[in-house]
Amino acid sequence: MADRTLRVCALYPDLMNIYADRGNMLMLERRCGWRGIGFELTAASLGDAVDPGAHDLFYLGGGQDRDQQLCAQDLYDTKRDALHAAAARGAVVLGICGGIQLLGDHYELGDETVPGIGLVDLVTKRAIDGSRLIGNVAIEVELEGLDGPRVLAGFENHGGRTMLGAGERPLGKVLKGHGNDGRSGFEGVIKGNVIGTYLHGPLLPKNAWFADWLLATSLGLAPGDLAPLDDALEDAAHASARRAAGL
Ligand code: GLN
Repeated sequence: MADRTLRVCALYPDLMNIYADRGNMLMLERRCGWRGIGFELTAASLGDAVDPGAHDLFYLGGGQDRDQQLCAQDLYDTKRDALHAAAARGAVVLGICGGIQLLGDHYELGDETVPGIGLVDLVTKRAIDGSRLIGNVAIEVELEGLDGPRVLAGFENHGGRTMLGAGERPLGKVLKGHGNDGRSGFEGVIKGNVIGTYLHGPLLPKNAWFADWLLATSLGLAPGDLAPLDDALEDAAHASARRAAGL
């Protein structure tokens, strides 16, 4: 493993980073380090071009409506083509909360519509009454390379309601919480290696198994190829997040 390096590109880490999204990067860094896998983190913010071949995982965290409005057009103008090319060659693209919204077609906020980059077929609309979907959440997911369904636990807080296009597959089934729109019973989206979810928390420290799945998938490995770690603390964090969600 020592000759491998996980190359991560954090998109707008200065604008899209609420609810401890930075912890997700730290989690990947540590789990690589503990296994002797290199870790390279590059930031791409307003105006920065992105090299589609230079990264294994592209990360777009959560953001307030205001911050999303600041970066949505830039994402569309300066990074859209590169992210499509990266996804087409199998790189992982992970969008969290504000991030999932910008991976879709567009986000309607009252009179204004901000563009998404159309990596997945979904649209998001802010609720007319401004109500938010807030709380601890747990979803059941089935991912390639794993032996059965697993639980992702986290925290959601979004005013937007996300509707998936007819052909699009959700990331998981809501066990507790609201999910994409508070009604469908589904959460997130997964299309190839493009993944979107509303789960913050931060997501990865609460779900070490998912951090490893992302790490492995980004490197073109199976999750079982990664050396096991002592996950006593991580398992406790996961159990606590599940309990918080009422599972
Ligand atoms: N601003 C978006 C919304 O409220 C996303 C929020 C977030 O990333 N937590 O729907």
